[in-house]
Amino acid sequence: MKAALPAGPAPARRRAVKGAFAAVLAAGVVGFFFALPEPGDERLAPPAPGFVVRDVRLFDGERVLEQATVVVREGRIVEAGPGVAVPPGLEVVDGRGHTLLPGLIDAHVHTWGNALAETLNFGVTTVLDMFSDPGPARELRRTREALAPRAHADLFTAGHLATAPRGHGTQFGQPVPTLTQPAQAPAWVEARLAEGSDFIKIVYEPRDANGLGPPFPSLDRDTVAALVQATQQRGQRAVVHVSRQFAARHALEAGADGLVHVHVDEVADAALVQLARERGAFVTPTLAVVAGVDPTPPPAGAVREPARLSADPRLRPFLTPEQRRAMLQPPPTKLTMFRLDTALASVRALHEGGVEILAGSDAPNPGTAHGASLHHELELLVRAGLTPTQALRAATAAPAQRFGLADRGRVAPGQRADLLLVAGDPTTDILATRAIQRIWKNGAPVQRRQYPEAP
Ligand SMILES: [Zn+2]
Repeated sequence: MKAALPAGPAPARRRAVKGAFAAVLAAGVVGFFFALPEPGDERLAPPAPGFVVRDVRLFDGERVLEQATVVVREGRIVEAGPGVAVPPGLEVVDGRGHTLLPGLIDAHVHTWGNALAETLNFGVTTVLDMFSDPGPARELRRTREALAPRAHADLFTAGHLATAPRGHGTQFGQPVPTLTQPAQAPAWVEARLAEGSDFIKIVYEPRDANGLGPPFPSLDRDTVAALVQATQQRGQRAVVHVSRQFAARHALEAGADGLVHVHVDEVADAALVQLARERGAFVTPTLAVVAGVDPTPPPAGAVREPARLSADPRLRPFLTPEQRRAMLQPPPTKLTMFRLDTALASVRALHEGGVEILAGSDAPNPGTAHGASLHHELELLVRAGLTPTQALRAATAAPAQRFGLADRGRVAPGQRADLLLVAGDPTTDILATRAIQRIWKNGAPVQRRQYPEAP
């Protein structure tokens, strides 16, 4: 099947095309081997008894409710809303002047090292991992259903990604099972689901009609379509990594549930917006990483976006020294295709055209930090035209619904008590998500870790 393809990139842009998001990931991944938290006997620990937050502004994942009261018992929310009575015997937190939110969900990360603890330190209680070693994550997939207190965010993961031999994703030193043709797709998908993949992530970085594109092989269009089909026949979700608009179009035509980056080669055109809307696909634009690698010098007197983020006094004490250093690095020199302005314009067009946007940071790629960069993503989504409430939904109820996370992303009876209490009103000022007063994971308070500045 041959589709109308856009003209190839101008010569000056050719080199930039090579890198795209593939190089972003490559640049970010140093040691790919996990040292994830030891789950131990976590599932056996009893849940915390509970607490009440009273007289608080509540964003429940969809709506804003004033003067609400939320009751938590044994790791779950039992009541939430205005007019709820405060029961005796539980700790009561005065919520006046504050806003209570569902624990945030980062819909695009890569977890290794201390990622899940760093993430929780910023009120992000669940992450969707878009590629990592499936082995060490197996135990975490079991413990995430427990209601015991824990000191790390919960993980849902693609495990291995689908890519061609020597394609993007194979360069990190860990063996990745690859494929080359549509007939292999059902068995490949079956093997991932047997390993415990929660969804299927496909890398699609093809050459364009003029033969231009990344210097590494890609799955072809028919194999991508066969992977999507095999995944959906098993009742699961298939998401696709793209960096150019024509590839985004192919992925949507193949029936992908979502795109896990916004393309960066040009602003989304009306045809792409219409296609994404008609197919009901979501887009996780990962603006934080685009801002992280955009080589455009900041205006006079300003600093680059990651440096600005890491200087925010509401975030800075909670960044590790390594995260602070990483946010001051210059952008990778080879990623000249990335322009935050172009990506923002695309998100604006997609959002105005009725395409659902999810919040994902792509941490820990260059210019991003686990946890903190989701707050950056929220700010950037508002800059792209989402209201603060729409941006908050993109980091709570929307990803939970899109990825079938039944008891996350909302504040309602029966939901897991992953909660975030912030000073002020992020439903009118999105930066208020950073003014974190309390975090609860499974209804237990999280001790935030602070890192003193080096003298
Ligand atoms: Zn990624």
